[in-house]
Amino acid sequence: MKLLENKKALITGGSRGIGRAIAIAYAKQGADVAISDLMVDEDAIDVVKEIESYGVKGKAYASDASSNEASESLINEVVKDFGQIDILVNNAGITRDNLLLRMSEQDWDLVIKVNLKSIFNMTKAVQRVMLKQRNGSIINMSSVVGLSGNAGQSNYSASKAGLIGFTKSIAQELGSRGVRCNAIAPGFIETAMTNKLSDEVRENWIKGIPLRRSGKPDDVANIAIFLASELSSYVTGQVISVDGGMHM
Ligand code: NAP
Repeated sequence: MKLLENKKALITGGSRGIGRAIAIAYAKQGADVAISDLMVDEDAIDVVKEIESYGVKGKAYASDASSNEASESLINEVVKDFGQIDILVNNAGITRDNLLLRMSEQDWDLVIKVNLKSIFNMTKAVQRVMLKQRNGSIINMSSVVGLSGNAGQSNYSASKAGLIGFTKSIAQELGSRGVRCNAIAPGFIETAMTNKLSDEVRENWIKGIPLRRSGKPDDVANIAIFLASELSSYVTGQVISVDGGMHM
């Protein structure tokens, strides 16, 4: 049995890394899947082809999740093309790492805007759709460092911790109308975001992971399937860590 048959999902930052893995996992489970990114590039087109290879609908949109206006139009376009939105995965995110001593105001503002304000933009726009349907699952991509903090990532950690407060508030606001909101806190997952770390930094991270390995985008996608599906119909306002036990 497919867990997401007849569901329509939208995933921001869906052409690469964790977002890509979630998009394909959802398609395998029978959902029609829309992805958004800053641009519709070759990666995005490949993801759409792979989505369609599972016999479901796929479409890529160019949209900046940090823009309120662009997020509103994206939701309108996806509803026009797909008819409804049952699952929103707020996955788009960036890093601009530095010690506070050297962190520019610009890098602080950019990370907060892309990682946190985007969640406000997209959730505000999708809520009227989900409230009308009286059904929906919103999944926000946090991070282990949103729970633990991390030297050199004060902007990123603040955005990922802020998103957890937002998730719990929205779960309380929308729960009575059948809309759930949860967060996933991935640990060290192999994507372009972590590939740029030095071997030394990677080894140090892995030493602190009880399961002694980095995670794969599919490890996160499996939890995203659970949170999108009826398997989690009594779960809201939660943060699920996918980090090999890095943070307990
Ligand atoms: P990634 O490979 O860098 O992918 C991020 C995606 O977000 C890219 O497709 C990117 O598009 C898109 N994006 C960036 N800014 C955007 C914007 N303003 N509007 C729309 N899309 C935008 O990163 P990832 O590792 O898969 O990370 C996905 C999420 O998981 C992020 O929120 C990240 O913080 C979180 N996370 C990752 C890890 C990890 O270990 N990898 C751990 C914890 C949490 P472009 O490439 O076109 O810019």
